[in-house]
Amino acid sequence: MPEVYLQVALDVPLQRTFDYRFEGESPIAGLRVIVPFGRQLLCGVIVQVNSEFAGTAGLKVEQLKLVQEVLYDMPPLPRNVLALCRFCSDYYAWPLGQVISAALPGAFRQPQAWQGGKELAWYAAADAARLTEHIPARAHRQHELARLLAAPRSLDEIRAVSPSATAWLKAWLEQELVSEVDAPMPTHGAPVTPALPELTEEQRTALEQLNSAKGFAPFLLFGVTGSGKTEVYLRAIEQRLAAGGQVLVLIPEINLTPQLEARFKARFPQEMMVSLHSGLADGERTRNWLLAAQGRARIVLGTRLAVFAPMPDLALIVVDEEHDLSYRQQEGFRYSARDVAVYRAHQAGVPIILGSATPSMESWRNMRESRYRLLTLKQRAVTGARPPQIQLLSTQQLRLFDGLTQNAINAMRDTLGQGGQVLVFVNRRGYAPVLACHECGWIASCKRCTARLVLHREDRRLRCHHCGWESPPPTHCPDCGNADLQPLGFGTQRLEEALTGLFPDTPPLRIDRDNTRRKGSLDAMLQQIHKGEARLLVGTQMMAKGHDFANLQLVVVLNADAGLFSLDFRAQERLYALLLQVAGRAGRAGQPGKVLIQTRYHDDPFYPMLISGDYAAFADRTLQERKATALPPFSTWAMLRAEAKTLQRAMTFLREVRERWRGFPGLQLAQPVPALMVRKAGWERAQVLISAQRRPALQAALREMLEQLGTEKHPGVRWALDVDPVDV
Ligand code: ADP
Ligand code: ZN
Ligand code: ZN
Repeated sequence: MPEVYLQVALDVPLQRTFDYRFEGESPIAGLRVIVPFGRQLLCGVIVQVNSEFAGTAGLKVEQLKLVQEVLYDMPPLPRNVLALCRFCSDYYAWPLGQVISAALPGAFRQPQAWQGGKELAWYAAADAARLTEHIPARAHRQHELARLLAAPRSLDEIRAVSPSATAWLKAWLEQELVSEVDAPMPTHGAPVTPALPELTEEQRTALEQLNSAKGFAPFLLFGVTGSGKTEVYLRAIEQRLAAGGQVLVLIPEINLTPQLEARFKARFPQEMMVSLHSGLADGERTRNWLLAAQGRARIVLGTRLAVFAPMPDLALIVVDEEHDLSYRQQEGFRYSARDVAVYRAHQAGVPIILGSATPSMESWRNMRESRYRLLTLKQRAVTGARPPQIQLLSTQQLRLFDGLTQNAINAMRDTLGQGGQVLVFVNRRGYAPVLACHECGWIASCKRCTARLVLHREDRRLRCHHCGWESPPPTHCPDCGNADLQPLGFGTQRLEEALTGLFPDTPPLRIDRDNTRRKGSLDAMLQQIHKGEARLLVGTQMMAKGHDFANLQLVVVLNADAGLFSLDFRAQERLYALLLQVAGRAGRAGQPGKVLIQTRYHDDPFYPMLISGDYAAFADRTLQERKATALPPFSTWAMLRAEAKTLQRAMTFLREVRERWRGFPGLQLAQPVPALMVRKAGWERAQVLISAQRRPALQAALREMLEQLGTEKHPGVRWALDVDPVDV
């Protein structure tokens, strides 16, 4: 028997691959194997096949264990996907085996052959007439099934005929009356040529550049909502499909898939399109993944995990809303699907379109430094669509009633009185609490650096997350003596109650993550809104995206200040994107909508740039600030996060790590601080910020950390590295 040596990547938290022996016909890299590991059996992916044993870590050939089984339930992971995983493993300092595992659908992470293949098979009568003859005349259901099987059918379709259908099918298969056949190419509808809108001048220019791009070419497609970005994607996709390519389209949220899917299906009725996201059932996700890998699905529409889908003819990548933080995987293997997509386009030598009305600073910088090409859509595609009016209500000058100014209340009353819909938008999630004086506008800031201090509620301490300085919160405002200091964004808890009191005839409908968690509940609420049954809406971030409410005429924004001043240096760009999005919700049916923003800091330079809609000016200014203060993207960051049963233990671990790597060339390690949400699921969490001017220095350090910490024992501590963190 010939013998080969396999390097296998296993889903274990160790930054290395494992060697095994295999006797028999040599398998190839990318296939799944089941191997013994310690006392258990694990599955992994072969990353390399050697005919001679290279001998790692003093291991002798005789000590190598035998591969238990090679699995052929999926096509071998192609070289380029393996290379992409390797890149991610290096870049994000994450074990290769775990990266590969994350790239696979769940069915292929199990140490057993996937049995779902049968479920995905298609069946048809070998000879329809012969099958019919075979069935007793009065067995109507069987005849029905026989008629159905004149064309290829899936098991789902077959089951729908009768509970006994699979039994009949089995019998017919045995008698060779029916056979397994290739899946038909699905068509989403009749081959109609949809009436395409005539492109605007700007769209045409953009499209010309996209269509003439050869090889790796990153584009930043910058245009407000409604400027016709999607139309540009569709045209560019059309061209690449016609040339025989596959196209990968990434979107930030599952919620947005149905809309976009419908639009794509209408445009490309003849092309097979699959979606890939975590909302799919296991079997369906596996099937879609396989269709992409076989090159049969020509369009793959998915959320971040789709970025790893094998696509042999990949010819174009589109990343819609490229600035969206949902592209960031926040648990387990942490990565940014947008950034991985750019690397993938580079690797595959294909164009990539990053589309946004509010591009991320990372992409904006790449554009400004000529690494990305800028395509701008300034005009709205539909003539007559007017941008909403944005107006500020200064809470410094106006009294508040349960968090609302009289002006806002009046405007709401007017709109509701005229039968319109109102959205009270509460900007709430994801901001670190910053202590402020609502009298004079003072904000608690670090005296040692420019960062704002964060109020840790658990132990009532103010902390600087950059340098680690801490103190108890002051009892009075140091500037004006006011004794009522509150975190920014405080005071909207009673909003719903207040609104019920103010508008007894139009009860408020609250929509946020908490009350839409149940399947179908969001849909039900959206229905209520569309039917006009709910007219006073209270919503958070969730409401900003994607939903069109034709009758929404007024948006009142509360708590903008929490986004304006936050510990998170990205808070302002997030706020800009968010406000633009909510503003875009208002006044869609002809009449311009109205947006009222309540703020204590009405003279902040942020607002003129928002009101004029000049995101370019905002982005340029923000980049300058980042450069001056050496914040990302002008420095690179990683967060070492640790959790333990006591905060003490987590902090001690982080302090030790800090001591060990403090002297690493080109590296800065901040003081460890408790996480904003200290306690989670019984664990106490802390973190230390690691930064470097240059990425290579950071990566070298992280590699070393991963290697050393990974092989040491740190009892009771769970830790993880987060490269390019987005919540700090
Ligand atoms: P975005 O993706 O930037 O939000 P869309 O591509 O969805 O913009 O376009 C917004 C609306 O304008 C859509 O209803 C779309 O069908 C329409 N549209 C896009 N381009 C044109 C055009 N050139 N002429 C007329 N309507 C257009
Ligand atoms: Zn004050
Ligand atoms: Zn500080």
